[in-house]
Amino acid sequence: MKYRHKIALIFTLICTLIIGSFSSIIYVLVNKHNQQQFHSRLEERAILAGQVLLEKDELSSGQYNKIVEKQLRKLPKEIHYILRIDENGEIPFENLPPALQAKPVILSLNEHLDIAYKTINDQEVAYLFYDDNEGTHIVVITAKDNDGDEDLAFIQSMLIVLTLLTFLITGVVAILFANKILSPVKKIIQQVQKINSSTLDERLEINEIHDQLYELSKTFNELLERLGTSFENQKQFIHHASHELKTPLTVILAQAEVLREQLFNEEEKKSIDQIHAQAEKLKHILDTLLEISFVENKNKLTIQKIRIDEVVQEAVNFCLKSSPSSAIRITYEEQVISDHYLECNGNENWLLIVVQNILSNAIKYSNNKPVGIHISETNQRVKVEIKDEGIGIPREDLEKIGNTFYRGKNSSFKSGSGVGLALSYKIINLLNGSIKIESEVEKGTTVSLSLPK
Ligand code: ADP
Repeated sequence: MKYRHKIALIFTLICTLIIGSFSSIIYVLVNKHNQQQFHSRLEERAILAGQVLLEKDELSSGQYNKIVEKQLRKLPKEIHYILRIDENGEIPFENLPPALQAKPVILSLNEHLDIAYKTINDQEVAYLFYDDNEGTHIVVITAKDNDGDEDLAFIQSMLIVLTLLTFLITGVVAILFANKILSPVKKIIQQVQKINSSTLDERLEINEIHDQLYELSKTFNELLERLGTSFENQKQFIHHASHELKTPLTVILAQAEVLREQLFNEEEKKSIDQIHAQAEKLKHILDTLLEISFVENKNKLTIQKIRIDEVVQEAVNFCLKSSPSSAIRITYEEQVISDHYLECNGNENWLLIVVQNILSNAIKYSNNKPVGIHISETNQRVKVEIKDEGIGIPREDLEKIGNTFYRGKNSSFKSGSGVGLALSYKIINLLNGSIKIESEVEKGTTVSLSLPK
């Protein structure tokens, strides 16, 4: 999950939880308040019921009529029962319906706690201790709080809607908010993504406000500074070392050439040939390393419009010279050919190095099986695909073969130094192009180059 989604989710959940908790508290308080109000009405009704049934004889007709009039305004589903406690204190529970025989509640009543309530089957029940001149009674009254229940159901649905709306609204607001908060971080990421080994001299924009993002950009710039220095030292070292080694190597090669002409026996000639071959290999590595350090110094880069098909043809001619038996076939995508067809932005010499490298690999690692080159043009880019039917590249090597001196696990039977592709990657990166390698072991490899037009 992306960080901004995480922030948005946490924010939304916290807000929903707070509103949800408040809603639950409001619901519980309203419920309690309704119940208390209904209980006081039940108490009133229980007293009235006692007066009508037990004190009729003691009241004047006016008082009695008033009470009866009140009595007529019944509560919903109201029913009352009167239990007379006999001289021995026995309570006739059997006079009550079984559901209402709440013995512990009834037994807890006395002069001090003269009324108790219970909720039985969604009905409110009041048990009133009623003492008069005819004896001690318990008035039991049951009723349903319809209005209260309706109010409560309404409040409940309102609170649920409110909680859901809070979830939706805070969700949207939180996403916008997280985007806004993280936009400077996104900007920093975009700037960092543009920095690579050849643009180490670039720096992040520094925020004016001295906050954490300012610290982050500043620290990153300091890191770039240190990296740039050590990278530059390393480049200089490779450049100087390659340069210094070139002269003695040229002398070794020249001496080996001279010795080859001398009269030596077969065994000695073999050794001299080996010295010559290894010195040649070393020279090739040094040349490529020098080329890499040259390419990395992008100040010396000149970009012109060049015809990729001409570069490819030149690379083919070069490779055919060293491997005349190779079968190389060039095909073009069928398209209307304009003057600028297959023209791309690049540097002819460097592109030649790249195509020669990839093509000679295709020939070398496929034991002279046919190699196909397909040239096409798509979306403002020129594409060259070089396809062979050779040994292929193991999956675990695919990501690493662009590293300097890395050679695939299955390539040791062929001579090589592992620097050609590294140089090709650097050149193509610098030309704002891309290299894609698809390969299957024992089936073959396709290297696709794409360059801006
Ligand atoms: P090398 O001198 O070893 O050929 P490169 O840098 O040109 O060096 O290539 C690096 C590695 O990539 C090679 O050692 C090889 O393992 C692998 N490779 C490159 N091209 C091919 C190909 N067409 N077929 C199989 N393996 C390849």
